[in-house]
Amino acid sequence: MENTSTKQQETTYTFERFRSDIFQYDTVYKDDVTDQQYFGFPIEPILAVESSLLSNTAKSIAYLSMEYGIAPSIYNSFQLTKPMDNKNNFFTHEVFSNQWLCDYLFKIKTDKMLDIPIYGGGLGVLAGDSMKSAADLGFSIAGIGILWNKGYFKQKFWYKHGQIPEELMWNPNSYPGLVPLNNIVEITTKEGNIKLRLWKYYVYSYDKKSACPIILLDSNLPENPEHFQKLTDQLYRSDDVWWKILQRAILGIGGIKALESLGYNIDIYHLNEGHAAFAFLEKYLQLTDKVHLDALKKSFAYTCHTPVEAGHDRFHMNDVSRILTEPYSEAAKLFGKEKEKDDLINLTYICLNNCMNINAVAQKHGEITRLQFPKFASKVKAITNGVHSHTWISQSFKDLFNKYQPVLGNWENTPENLEKVTQLKNDEAFRKDIFEAHQINKRQLMNILRHWQVDENVLTIGWARRIAGYKRPALIFHDVQKIIQIARDIGPIQIILAGKAHPNDNIGSAHIDEILDHIDQLNAYNEIVKVLILENYDTYFGKLLTNCVDVWLNNPLPPFEASGTSGMKAILNGVLQLSTLDGWVVEAADKDIGWIFGFQHKGSDIGTEQDLRLDEDSKALYDNLREAAELYYQTNNKGAVNLKSSWIDKMINCVQQGGFFNTQRMLKEYNNSMWHIFK
Ligand SMILES: *Cc1c(COP(=O)(O)O)cnc(C)c1O
Repeated sequence: MENTSTKQQETTYTFERFRSDIFQYDTVYKDDVTDQQYFGFPIEPILAVESSLLSNTAKSIAYLSMEYGIAPSIYNSFQLTKPMDNKNNFFTHEVFSNQWLCDYLFKIKTDKMLDIPIYGGGLGVLAGDSMKSAADLGFSIAGIGILWNKGYFKQKFWYKHGQIPEELMWNPNSYPGLVPLNNIVEITTKEGNIKLRLWKYYVYSYDKKSACPIILLDSNLPENPEHFQKLTDQLYRSDDVWWKILQRAILGIGGIKALESLGYNIDIYHLNEGHAAFAFLEKYLQLTDKVHLDALKKSFAYTCHTPVEAGHDRFHMNDVSRILTEPYSEAAKLFGKEKEKDDLINLTYICLNNCMNINAVAQKHGEITRLQFPKFASKVKAITNGVHSHTWISQSFKDLFNKYQPVLGNWENTPENLEKVTQLKNDEAFRKDIFEAHQINKRQLMNILRHWQVDENVLTIGWARRIAGYKRPALIFHDVQKIIQIARDIGPIQIILAGKAHPNDNIGSAHIDEILDHIDQLNAYNEIVKVLILENYDTYFGKLLTNCVDVWLNNPLPPFEASGTSGMKAILNGVLQLSTLDGWVVEAADKDIGWIFGFQHKGSDIGTEQDLRLDEDSKALYDNLREAAELYYQTNNKGAVNLKSSWIDKMINCVQQGGFFNTQRMLKEYNNSMWHIFK
C-alpha cells in the first residue's frame, strides 16, 4: 500500500545525504563532519533545519545579504581536528598611540582566529546576529551571501599617510564550520556564464539545539575565465562599475539559483539592503504568467539600512545592458527607474517598487525613509535593530545575570527579561556586583593593553565603528586643548578607538589621517590623556571594546545614522552612552542611559552630510564629557567605589534597555509584521 499523506512525502535530510553533498568529503572533511558532529557541534540540528527547508509544508525564509559578520572567535567556537592553516589566525595587532615608544616596542597579542572575513561593518554584523537569533528562535531560515576569497581588506596605519589597505589572505578550506558543496550554479551575462560553487556555514543557537545554514557563493573556480574567478575576491570592490554590477548579480540571481539547486522551498525572500535586488528580477523572469506578479511581490521583504546617498546603488542603464543579458536589463529598466525619463537604475527602487513589506531600522529612520521616498511612505514600517545578546554579553555579565536568576529568570531564552533588572536598583549587593562585573571586563582590556600603562581606575572612553564622514570619527579631537583641560581639572582620561574606512573612501581615509595627527599632538600629555587607535577593527575588538570601556561614544550627525548597533552591545554590559540623538538612541534617550548631546534633527528637511557641525557639536561633547568625568571620579576614586552613585543607576538603566535592543525581539517583529509565517 502506498502511503500518500503529505508527511510521508516530506524529505528527511540524512547524514548520508549531507556527506554526499560535501565536496571532497572523504579527502578533507571526514574527520570534522561525522554522523555525530559538525566541527565539534551536534549534527542533529543541521539535519532538522535542512529537512525543514526542503519541506513543502513547513514555512521557510531566505535572507539575502552581501555580508555576514560571524566570528567563531566570539561565538560558535567550532573545532578543527587538523591544525588550522596559519593564514586563518590573526594574533597580532599594531597600535598607534600618543606613547610612540610603546607602539614601536609592542603589539597587541591575542590567540584569536581571523573572523570569517565576509563583512565590512554593521550591516554584516546585523545579518550575522539575525541568523544567530533565528537559530535561537528555531526559525527555518537560510542565509545567502558571498564567499569573499580575499575578505574586505587588511588595515595598516602609517603616520602622515593614514590608512594603507593591504590584501587579506585566508584559506576557506581550513576554516572551522565552513564546507564546500558539490553544487555549482550558473548565471548568464553578456560576457558568458559565471559558474558559482556553493559553500555552507552553519550558525547554531546558544544552546546548540537548533541551527541555520548560510549559503555562500564563490566564483573562484578553475572552470571560470580568470576575470570571473576574481569576482568574489573583495567585498565592496568599487573601482569599476563592472565589479559592482556582477557582484550584485551573483548575490541576487546566483542566490535564487542556489536555493533552487539545494531544493529549498522558500516562502519569503528577505533582502537585507538593496544589494540583493536582482533576486526579484530573477523570480520575475521565471514567472510563467505575469498575473502572478502580485503574489510574487507578497513574497518579498526588504530592509532599507541607510539614509546616506552612497548607500543606494545606482547604475547607468548602458552599463546594465552592456553587462547583463537583455531579459535582466529590461526588467531592471521596468522596475528600477527613479523617474520615467531617467537613465539610471536604482536598486533601492527595484526593492521599493516590488517588495510588499519594507522596513527601516529604527523609528527615527522610518521617519527619514518616508521623507526620502514619499511615494512609498505608506509601505515603510520601522523595526528597530538589535544585537545578539549571547554574542555580545560578556562572561562577567552572564555570570551576574545568572546569579540574580530569581529576578531575571531565564534571560538566556528570553533576553527581554533583562528589563526586570530595574527591580534590583535598590539592592546594595547587586549594585556592588554590577560595578565589579564591569571592573572585571575593564581589567581584561587593561591587561591586553598593559604595555601602554593604562589603568582600570581611569575613565575610559571607547569609539569604534566604520570610519565614514557622517559618523564624525574625529569629533572628540576637534579641540584637543579642551580634553587636556578636562583631564587637568577632573582626572585623567583614556580614549580607545578603532575603525576601517572603505579603501576608496578618500574622506574616510582623511579622517584617519586627522586622528593620527591629533594623537601625535597629544604626545606631550600622555600622563593625563592616553589615546590609542587599534588596527584592524573586527568583531573581536568590537566585543572587547563595547564590553570593557566605561563610556561608549557615538557621535554621528543626525539624522544620518539609521540605527547604529555598537552602543547596543555596550548597554548589555552596563557601559554608559555619550551620544548624539540619532538612530536607536532616540528610542532610549529619556531612559537616563548616559549623556545625550549636540544637534537635534527636526522637521521635514533632511539636511546634508556635508555640513558636519563640528564646532557646535564638539563644544556640546566637551561639556558632557566634563560631566561624565566628574560623575565617574565621584563613583570610582582610585578603586574605592561609591555604591550610591547615580553612575550605577545609569548602568542598570542601560542593561534594562538591552532587554529591548536585541535581534530576538527584532526577528519576532519581522515575523509579526512582515513575514507572518512562524508561530
Ligand atoms: C557592531 C559592529 C559594527 C557596527 O557598529 P555601529 O555602531 O553600528 O557603527 C561595525 N563593525 C564591527 C566589527 C562591529 O562589531
